[in-house]
Amino acid sequence: MNDVIVVGLGPAGSTAAYRLASMGYKVIALDKESFPRYKPCGGCVSTKIDAIKDFDFSHLVESTISGAIFSFKAYKSLDIISDKPLGYNIMRDVFDNFLVEKAQQAGAKILEERRVKDFIVTPSSVTVITDTGEAFKGKFLICADGSVGGVARQYFGFDSKESAISLTTEVSCDTSELAEMMGKIFIDFGFVPHGYAWIFPKKKFLSVGVAGEARYLKGRKLQDCFEAFTRGHRVLKDCVIEKRTGCTIPFFYRECRR
Ligand SMILES: Cc1cc2nc3c(=O)[nH]c(=O)nc-3n(C[C@H](O)[C@H](O)[C@H](O)COP(=O)(O)OP(=O)(O)OC[C@H]3O[C@@H](n4cnc5c(N)ncnc54)[C@H](O)[C@@H]3O)c2cc1C
Repeated sequence: MNDVIVVGLGPAGSTAAYRLASMGYKVIALDKESFPRYKPCGGCVSTKIDAIKDFDFSHLVESTISGAIFSFKAYKSLDIISDKPLGYNIMRDVFDNFLVEKAQQAGAKILEERRVKDFIVTPSSVTVITDTGEAFKGKFLICADGSVGGVARQYFGFDSKESAISLTTEVSCDTSELAEMMGKIFIDFGFVPHGYAWIFPKKKFLSVGVAGEARYLKGRKLQDCFEAFTRGHRVLKDCVIEKRTGCTIPFFYRECRR
């Protein structure tokens, strides 16, 4: 019998596993993926993280952000520069892997390549069942399987109209261009109806993406918005864009409205 079972080892699950294991609880934490794994994300973490994490992760920070450059259709920019750091640009595959290692070092048992298919709740325990045919029993279950995780959707429901869709990629670009963009994030409006596009510079890549509300995209494919943004942006137009990853982000706020 475990004290806590954590499903999903993104930042939420691994931090919960780390904290609980550090306090001496018997924790087992499962993820369907093998780490490090790619996570579609801009990778800009708010400096609010400083109040949460009690360990150093500065070696993973690709750049500290102190400015946001807003533009409309890639021109007419509005630069907002702060004298304080606003966020840290990290690569999610590296950052999430580090957090999983911290949870493991704290004593949590980490099990990768285990997709949780179902869970059975009784008054005194919960049993999770994985696609490998294993069953794990605990007193508490933390569902941290993220916005696309089946467990969260099973609980909150999923309506494709009540969601956003996104496309992300990592783009190599000229190093002098990268150096100039460091320390800022770039957010553009106009290419995506009821959405936006972004460029978050990292040491070797630009994390680039578009996202918008699924219901307002209507017939227009997000892919077209992505193409228009990348072709229309001074820095991106000559870059080779290879792999793109799509992701749906459900709005769970319907529950909050009640
Ligand atoms: C395109 C995009 C860009 C974003 N950009 C930013 C940004 O720049 N800054 C920011 O702060 N936030 C950003 N976000 C939001 C951010 O990615 C999430 O808030 C964050 O990842 C949530 O963390 P989490 O731990 O809750 O879930 P996740 O990071 O989604 O982790 C969930 C984990 O659960 C695992 N899992 C799922 N289902 C199962 C299952 N059935 N069994 C076992 N394991 C399972 C997955 O493999 C995954 O590892 C972005 C999101 C998207 C989609």
